Amino acid sequence: MKYAIIIPDGCADEPIEALGGRTPLEAARTPHMDRIAAEGIVGLSNNTPSHLPAGSEVANLCLLGYDPDRYFTGRAPLEAAAQGIELGPHDWAIRCNLVTIRDQTMVDFTADHISTEEATELLASLQKMVDEEMFAEQNGQLQFVPGVSYRNLLLYRGSSEQPAPFSKETRTHAPHDWTDLSVLDAFPRGPGSGLLTELMTRSVEVFEDHPVNRRRIAAGKRPATNVWLWGLGGAPALPSFAERYGPRGVMITAVDLLRGIAALVGWPRIEVEGATGYLDTDYAAKARAAIAALDEYDLVCVHIEAPDEASHEGRHEAKIEALEQIDEKIVGPLLERLQAAGDYRVLVTPDHPTFCSTKKHTHGMVPLAISGSGVTADSATGYSEREAAASGLRLEHGWDLMDRFIKG
Ligand SMILES: [Zn+2]
Repeated sequence: MKYAIIIPDGCADEPIEALGGRTPLEAARTPHMDRIAAEGIVGLSNNTPSHLPAGSEVANLCLLGYDPDRYFTGRAPLEAAAQGIELGPHDWAIRCNLVTIRDQTMVDFTADHISTEEATELLASLQKMVDEEMFAEQNGQLQFVPGVSYRNLLLYRGSSEQPAPFSKETRTHAPHDWTDLSVLDAFPRGPGSGLLTELMTRSVEVFEDHPVNRRRIAAGKRPATNVWLWGLGGAPALPSFAERYGPRGVMITAVDLLRGIAALVGWPRIEVEGATGYLDTDYAAKARAAIAALDEYDLVCVHIEAPDEASHEGRHEAKIEALEQIDEKIVGPLLERLQAAGDYRVLVTPDHPTFCSTKKHTHGMVPLAISGSGVTADSATGYSEREAAASGLRLEHGWDLMDRFIKG
């Protein structure tokens, strides 16, 4: 049996007036996803327990069969795993965005999609300031690790003598949930929040007149005004996917935290040239990589960030375009490959809803569609939030879905 899981990140939405009361998924032309729904089953599942943030980290862990209350320690540890960074028992990883804040308003949580080179240079200056001027007693414990573009990490290397000041009670806010809003209520709270807030505040001085920002402003780009620290956690320990479910899987994604989840569940990652995690991603290249991977692996998981990015920008037309591209260039060719293989199962489902109206992730049910060998069709004719809600299949615990997909 061959398996494919396709995750159009954040694709679930609500009816939009400008679309005649349809959701982007309903408005998009998606014949292949509709075919999966028509030949198989649809339903709703909840990957975002109400007491946890409605982030991709929690929702994707859930979707892949892991109860986040047991296995989720924070977003940043997943991203550290993606980079091959090992966390010791006293270490914490903290997500470090480069952002643009003006007049206390979160103008851009990506600092205008700052380049990796520029981000690396800014973080080196911040590291220098931290090492030379701040927290002499913690020297060497704080370590900025450049990632990709605005997505970077801060590590806190603790020890039993000098444990990190954070705990499960430390509260932080994702900067993409504060676009166009005042950040005054969004600073960290709880144990260790003083340190995080001080680093965020001190970064303003380091970045203000930095050569990188002078060049960006001269080029008409937004400067990176601050680091924004959030999503922190200690080292997680997950049983492997193959151990739990059987199939040997592989992940295709352009997003670090999905790479991290893959690393922690024991899946290799295939890096695809042209996969950007944005609307300009090379959809067809991802499909070619997925099709080739099925020769070697039992299960391929293709994650596409574009619908979520369009939602964060509040652009429903771009979201529709992304969904149509996914359907035509990924779902179609992959389905053809699976059907040629003989026994197969395919699952299409997003991790969480992201509303174009609010530009935010939200808690709530997402639509799923499963077809393939041994799946008896229900009455659904297409893949959408409405069809899924009408089906009667409702998984309150998203982590039950994988049992149903693999074994059911
Ligand atoms: Zn997501």
